[in-house]
Amino acid sequence: MFKPDGKYPIELHSFLAEQNKTWELCRSNYDALKRVLTKEFTIDGNIVRVQFNPARLTSTSAKVDSASITARKCFLCRENRPPEQNDFHLDEQFYVLVNPFPIFPEHFTVTLKDHLPQEIGGRIKELLRITSELTAEYIVFYNGPKCGASAPDHFHFQAGNKDFLPLFGADGIKSENILWSKQFQSASAKGIDDGLRKFVLIESPDRADAEELFVLFDSAYRRHRKDSAEPLYNLVCAKEGEAYKLVVLLRAKHRPGYYFAEGPEQVLLSPASVDVCGVCITPREEDFNKVNEVMLKNIFSEVFISREELISSGEIKI
Ligand SMILES: [Zn+2]
Repeated sequence: MFKPDGKYPIELHSFLAEQNKTWELCRSNYDALKRVLTKEFTIDGNIVRVQFNPARLTSTSAKVDSASITARKCFLCRENRPPEQNDFHLDEQFYVLVNPFPIFPEHFTVTLKDHLPQEIGGRIKELLRITSELTAEYIVFYNGPKCGASAPDHFHFQAGNKDFLPLFGADGIKSENILWSKQFQSASAKGIDDGLRKFVLIESPDRADAEELFVLFDSAYRRHRKDSAEPLYNLVCAKEGEAYKLVVLLRAKHRPGYYFAEGPEQVLLSPASVDVCGVCITPREEDFNKVNEVMLKNIFSEVFISREELISSGEIKI
């Protein structure tokens, strides 16, 4: 076990360097990432990059139905991890692991020590706390069990370099796209439709206020949907100066029609947090070559809720 003394992010840089020294698969995938092909589009004023990343094929095509999950050994449980994979003791609850199939120049999995299901109820506090601990260099994110998590049976967040995601860039979130806003103590929530995505932006300098406003939004949204199950969320959290910024991406489905099409119509693109924040991963070269602006627009439109649903999600009782 790699025992830190709290001097992040320097220790995370060293942890990654140590894993690259001792773990061949990890090193070769981080090396390959330096030469990865990307292409860039601007859609309705939003930057979307497409990354051709063959190492992500297993994750993109992961079977996440409950029968397939039950039939395999959990790759986040300590006893099933590759012997080369070291763990970094973050606190009593969580380990940090280096993700050996990176999308970010530094890509970590922040995994609960216990094998408990991926559900955000009661854990938004941990998302904000871990974001605070890992410093402003990283974003910390959560993929819901039905919209991107490839281990829906074992609770985990991921972390990566903040400046890598277009939505978190200088011009990523534009005020003209705000459809509604709410205030709770020091925290604000804004419903945003930027032409590609429908999301709620929660901002506050106070972690407890941000958490409370998320909980208020979450219960209102479940009531509105008339479904108490966890809505399809991708949650991405960053710290900017003294303020926390929590982006709640409101998904309608996990994988678009292109994913399930057959023959030349098929595009293996399985959107999770990173993709919907503006870096779309295509593990196959033919998909990377094929993807164009129209396809990306269709994919985003299919996997997000409608503008009307976003408007009604703002009926939060404070
Ligand atoms: Zn597990």
